[in-house]
Amino acid sequence: MENYATQMEAARKGIVTKELKTVAGKELMTVEELLPLVASGRAVICANKRHTCIDPEGVGSMLKTKINVNLGVSRDCKDYSVEMEKVMEAVHMGAHAIMDLSSHGNTIPFRRKLTSECPAMIGTVPIYDSVIHYQRDLDSLTAKDFIDVIRLHAEDGVDFVTLHCGISRKTIDQIKNHKRKMNIVSRGGSLVFAWMCMTGEENPFYEYYDEILDICREYDVTISLGDACRPGCLADATDVCQIEELVRLGELTKRAWEKDVQVMVEGPGHMPMDQIAANMKVQQSVCQGAPFYVLGPLVTDIAPGYDHITSAIGGAIAAASGAAFLCYVTPAEHLALPNVEDVKQGIIASKIAAHAADIAKGVRGAREIDDKMADARRKLDWEAQFDCAIDPDTARRIRDERKPEHEDTCSMCGKFCAVRSMNKALAGEHIDIL
Ligand code: SF4
Repeated sequence: MENYATQMEAARKGIVTKELKTVAGKELMTVEELLPLVASGRAVICANKRHTCIDPEGVGSMLKTKINVNLGVSRDCKDYSVEMEKVMEAVHMGAHAIMDLSSHGNTIPFRRKLTSECPAMIGTVPIYDSVIHYQRDLDSLTAKDFIDVIRLHAEDGVDFVTLHCGISRKTIDQIKNHKRKMNIVSRGGSLVFAWMCMTGEENPFYEYYDEILDICREYDVTISLGDACRPGCLADATDVCQIEELVRLGELTKRAWEKDVQVMVEGPGHMPMDQIAANMKVQQSVCQGAPFYVLGPLVTDIAPGYDHITSAIGGAIAAASGAAFLCYVTPAEHLALPNVEDVKQGIIASKIAAHAADIAKGVRGAREIDDKMADARRKLDWEAQFDCAIDPDTARRIRDERKPEHEDTCSMCGKFCAVRSMNKALAGEHIDIL
């Protein structure tokens, strides 16, 4: 019988769990280095005790930046096996977490399939599922209904849940008075807001937070404190609504830690580039170093179709400035449900952002692959270059489609290839160009 409830409690008692040992190995850290980070909440290991097939990962600003992919069955895409294929492909491509945002039919079988077959961390947003689970209108649901769905997800083995605990009835006046351009763009946040408006009651995720903590402690579910007031456009970035919610999230982080419950804090949102680093610093200070889980941030509002790029720019700056976890954004963001190609593009963009940030912040082991790539490029060793590439298939396809006349260069410069000229010059060889 284990004498700890959560990874955090184990770390605080000095117990090295098998999950912590695995994560330390992946991060090229000793368990002695990782243990205090988990004990203090600066790193989390999202691993529900019932998710027995999990290949555990750590999330923390000093660890490799992790990537989340949102998937799940919907009214238009409700074939579990197809969705499961997408999940496994996403994991194969490097996703560390899958958020099951299923929004149609009976969501239980797919969720259970995920926690019995998928090795990545599994996250959910229980409020999305509440309406579907009970098949009742939002305003007929009670606080107990919401909490029972959190328990159901915990029992099903979900590793982390997004809960929008940080808004309260005060937020209703704030949103009405502050006149944001985009009001609330968080789906879960808008549901909590609408529920409070319709019922006249306090946010149940805030009011019954202690009860929720007890459930999360029992199963070791990490709480991802949702950012209901994250800015939905540049004009709303770093405004009173966002910052006031963040302050409340800082208080809720402390309360969770008092019960050894692991916490991540979600963050912006759309945001001009020059505000990102400051936002990361404020979050780390207000939430005492709890891992920050960001969407993007999207650094401009005018690139629909390319928001995987706007998000990767912001994500790279955010992660280099301290964010620990990036939620992918696809080219379909703001436009449609992503298809398989969109999912792929979103994952690649997030991986680039995460890797670029890891190099900048000196995460162990991040830089070596770039040095290997440089060696392969200097040697004009194309196979070695593909081995180092984030997306080797695309790299190989582009080269194959436009093969050079001479195999030792590429069709960009041909015999004017600088690499080839330098290699030959330094070897004292004749350089034939014409
Ligand atoms: S041909 Fe030009 S682009 Fe291609 S490898 Fe040589 S220097 Fe680089």
